[in-house]
Amino acid sequence: MSKSKISNMWSFWERESFVKKADVIIVGSGIVGLNAALEIKSNSPELSVIILEAGPLPSGASTKNAGFACFGSPSELMMDLEHSSSEKVFALVEKRLKGLNYLRNLVGDKNMNYLSPGSYELFMDGGEGYVAVEEHLNFLNDECAKTIGFKPYELKNDIISKNAFQGFSKAIKINGEGQINTGEMMKALLDLASSKGIRILNGIKVLSHQITSNELALQTSHGEVRCEKCLIATNGFASELIDKTVEPARAQVLITEEIDNLPFEGTYHFDSGYYYFRNVGRRVLFGGGRNLDFDKETTSKNELNPIIQDELDNILSERILPNCKFEVAHRWTGIMGVGGDKTPYIEKLDDRLYCAVKLGGMGVAIGSTTGIEAAQLLLRS
Ligand SMILES: Cc1cc2nc3c(=O)[nH]c(=O)nc-3n(C[C@H](O)[C@H](O)[C@H](O)COP(=O)(O)OP(=O)(O)OC[C@H]3O[C@@H](n4cnc5c(N)ncnc54)[C@H](O)[C@@H]3O)c2cc1C
Repeated sequence: MSKSKISNMWSFWERESFVKKADVIIVGSGIVGLNAALEIKSNSPELSVIILEAGPLPSGASTKNAGFACFGSPSELMMDLEHSSSEKVFALVEKRLKGLNYLRNLVGDKNMNYLSPGSYELFMDGGEGYVAVEEHLNFLNDECAKTIGFKPYELKNDIISKNAFQGFSKAIKINGEGQINTGEMMKALLDLASSKGIRILNGIKVLSHQITSNELALQTSHGEVRCEKCLIATNGFASELIDKTVEPARAQVLITEEIDNLPFEGTYHFDSGYYYFRNVGRRVLFGGGRNLDFDKETTSKNELNPIIQDELDNILSERILPNCKFEVAHRWTGIMGVGGDKTPYIEKLDDRLYCAVKLGGMGVAIGSTTGIEAAQLLLRS
């Protein structure tokens, strides 16, 4: 008896009906993997497409995120301009907005509860970043207008007193951004994929891959699965499978119970995007603080970090909801993929192997189009 037969847990029936050699296998059922699968099926319906997913649900970032449909705050762009050319920075703004519009058309605003009650960047009292941002606001607006057709940023300090926030002195409104219900968005994409004949197998972790002259074999937690071509869409977990520099970046989040007379709605970020909060109906979702403990947060383990969660509690009660009674209903974490600049890796790695990984904190906006780009690359070659 050969070794590979002993380690294979598939039955004959499973091998024939569920994991028979596929034309394409996608590893990871996040927003990127699902969109890549949909694009392959829409271009070449005759191809068999299987998605292998390690978790019981997509288990990286796509079902854990904050649901900001955003294309860039002024301080984020200012920071990007320090490392990248102006062309590159504003091209990314355009790409993010186009990606959001694509997602809205694909899923439908109603199906993912897309709303645009207002999006703002807040600046803390005495915060250093604001002066540079204010100085360059006209420039940022003019450059954005060249690529996206409108000037998104306007000073809106009165939102701070209106919403009873404490410890902030400046606010900039970002027109054109919105918020989604992340769970509903992903449920809609999973349903769409199933309806197109894409087989999604959960609880199967891909451990390694081997390429031969006539196929690609994946060793998984359940045994071997074979295909013609494979796309790795595992984002923050990518370096476990392929030779790409993608660091896992954990993010901490909490959500409150419903609050009577919640004084605000909309999406907000502050401290150069390290913190973000929004309303979810009458609840508040609040996340961030990775900069408090970078070392511990560079991990793909979903565990709460008490240092960061305590700080989230403090900021929430002192600055965001200073006059409200609230209780935290739930806390969770998600894993992003970061490293170097903000451009994702969408590449052909070998004859039969491709990747679309490292989405950073922009996956709601560029996840769909990243999946599409990767699928087109795979189909072309
Ligand atoms: C807390 C948090 C808040 C965020 N907020 C926002 C936001 O408001 N707006 C925004 O635009 N972006 C946000 N992001 C980022 C966004 O969620 C991600 O960029 C996006 O979801 C990445 O999608 P993906 O498909 O590339 O990766 P993922 O969704 O991480 O999918 C990768 C999948 O691969 C699976 N996998 C990994 N290894 C294996 C393996 N070996 N075998 C099989 N399967 C495997 C994982 O289980 C996972 O389901 C946030 C992220 C987090 C964590």
